[in-house]
Amino acid sequence: MGITIAEIHLEVCSMCKGDGYVQLLLGGSETCHACKGSGIREKEAEKGEK
Ligand SMILES: [Zn+2]
Repeated sequence: MGITIAEIHLEVCSMCKGDGYVQLLLGGSETCHACKGSGIREKEAEKGEK
């Protein structure tokens, strides 16, 4: 059990709850823009780094 959770800067996307897509009100689904479909959001990735 050598996994150090504290070093992982990822969290489940709150927009899609980890599904990678969001349900549309009109029906169907769409790729989540917050996580780009991965279902995971990088906490440290919001510093405008690119
Ligand atoms: Zn998402």
